[in-house]
Amino acid sequence: MGGLRLPLRSILTDQILSKVTKPTRYIGTEWNTVHKSWEKTPVKMAFAFPDLYEVGMSHLGLRILYGLVNEQPDFLLERVFAPWVDMEEELRRRGLPLFSLESYAPLREFDLIGFTLQYEMSYTNILNMLDLGQIPLRSADRTNDDPLVIAGGPCAFNPEPLADFIDCFVIGEGEEVLLEILGAIRELKSSRPGRPDRAVLLRRLAKIPGVYIPAFYQVAYGENGQVEEVKAREPMVPPRVIKRVIADLDRVYFPTRPIVPFMEIVHDRIMLELFRGCQRGCRFCQAGMIYRPVRERSPEILRRQAEELVKSIGYEEMSLTSLSSGDYCAIESLIKQLLNDYEKDGISISLPSLRIDSFSVNLAQEVQRVRKSGLTFAPEAGTQRLRDVINKNVTEDDLLQATNAAFAAGWSAVKLYFMVGLPTEERADLDGIADIALRVADLGTSWQKRGHIKKRIQVTVSTSCFVPKAHTPFQWEGQDPISVLQEKQDYLRQKLRDKRITYNWHDPSLSFLEAVFARGDRRLGRVLTAAWQKGCKFDSWSEHFKWDYWMAAFAECGLDPVWYAQRRIPYSERLPWDHIDSGVSKRYLQREHEQALAGIVTADCRYDACTGCGVCPTLEVDVQLKGGGQTAALSR
Ligand code: SF4
Repeated sequence: MGGLRLPLRSILTDQILSKVTKPTRYIGTEWNTVHKSWEKTPVKMAFAFPDLYEVGMSHLGLRILYGLVNEQPDFLLERVFAPWVDMEEELRRRGLPLFSLESYAPLREFDLIGFTLQYEMSYTNILNMLDLGQIPLRSADRTNDDPLVIAGGPCAFNPEPLADFIDCFVIGEGEEVLLEILGAIRELKSSRPGRPDRAVLLRRLAKIPGVYIPAFYQVAYGENGQVEEVKAREPMVPPRVIKRVIADLDRVYFPTRPIVPFMEIVHDRIMLELFRGCQRGCRFCQAGMIYRPVRERSPEILRRQAEELVKSIGYEEMSLTSLSSGDYCAIESLIKQLLNDYEKDGISISLPSLRIDSFSVNLAQEVQRVRKSGLTFAPEAGTQRLRDVINKNVTEDDLLQATNAAFAAGWSAVKLYFMVGLPTEERADLDGIADIALRVADLGTSWQKRGHIKKRIQVTVSTSCFVPKAHTPFQWEGQDPISVLQEKQDYLRQKLRDKRITYNWHDPSLSFLEAVFARGDRRLGRVLTAAWQKGCKFDSWSEHFKWDYWMAAFAECGLDPVWYAQRRIPYSERLPWDHIDSGVSKRYLQREHEQALAGIVTADCRYDACTGCGVCPTLEVDVQLKGGGQTAALSR
């Protein structure tokens, strides 16, 4: 063990780095990296991010787990990212394995490889990384000499398409459960030399709540292709795996010395996590369902974390992250305090996710005190009717008031996010998108005429395509055919011809595949393998996306992608992810779906009565509003 680490380091620095683009992606000696003793640390884990360095390094989950695991004396955690094609070529040409950035250790030498599943279109990169790491792709082919391969993150809530490749999934928040998994490995390693016996280890892990081991479950399919039954093969595994949740965010670890990369990454900034969860209840939103209930961090703790972060890293921007940061109970006072504390250091505050209705002139003016970053609003749908269907509890007036306040405060650029292809969408809803965009642009122009804005008015409209996601009220809905989505985009492109408006849209064929894997079952593992073997990787990068290869892979495996993505699933049908329990009941999701079709909205349980989603009693965790202020007092 460990024999390859030194040669790998020198081959890399002497022969490879000068030949690849952005070599800083592979150096691994950034500020605040942790280099623990490989020989003396009993359990070694690689955190594998199935995309490029600059994407992965912007991910808060990686920052959290990196710090958390490396704080433990018996465990080390090193990073590995998907190498870009030029680096992959160099490795393959020389027969070199994929390696971690800290120790330049081949993936095979770790006890545990942990993938994070942020989006479906990274799945082929997982296969590619395992192959480059010289680890058998299929879980069934791994022996005691191979590392354990685990995965977590939002896509783990429908783990089935990856069931063949992943030994064990973590369902829910990882901070506690990951330490339990590493602890189990340490224990087994201390009782016998070398790696633990895989069968013994998996049985041991199956007892940890929130751990799902696909090999211990058997899936039976009906004649018409749907999942008929998912049966536990082993007596000790639960029929349903319930997600893990951190009960109190004030008590959980948060990294205040994150790594500072040498190169520009997607989000180059301090990240302060205000809360987890969102109970707005948008019916298409998976994050809004699977991260329930809302749990806020106390403002005092946030200020202390901010202070430590500013001391340890030198960014000029502090991002207040969460699913809907403007909803934090004490958002205005927190922003004021942070600005008072750091304005003198030239640090600006940004809110990446601004809710339209919680946005206020005050907030707009506060956050722009140091430097103006872009403003983004997500009305999601063009008419009130459709916004009620999706439970986006905002009105056009809310949006116009918010953008008006923004222009009045001096912003010249506003981004608006919408979705096309939402259930029940009509032509009038598309017209509504164009109307809103034009009205917003006109508001900007009027402030420009009054001399408040000197720059050109810029309204960017982006539309994504609706993707039915597991564990949401819209999980039963079919996706529009690709041609219909394209027609809708063409229509909007015509309607949005205005020099103040820029229109961006997502590739519907990519959204189609996303829907296939979001609602997919175990059989899709064959398709993933075939697509990867044909050369699919970095699918979410347009220059790499190979539609024809994907279609050939489906045909080869005898599976119809349209059946997975576009079919309206009856309530009575068993869903491939029904054995994964987010705490939100299926009964609630069905009721929400029915309310959607009736155009009835559901209130946010923070401000109103409990709407009965089931998560609090199931997980024995309550909604926690620690931001203080009037909102919190009113809420329960
Ligand atoms: S159980 Fe009730 S209070 Fe808890 S998150 Fe669901 S709706 Fe809100």
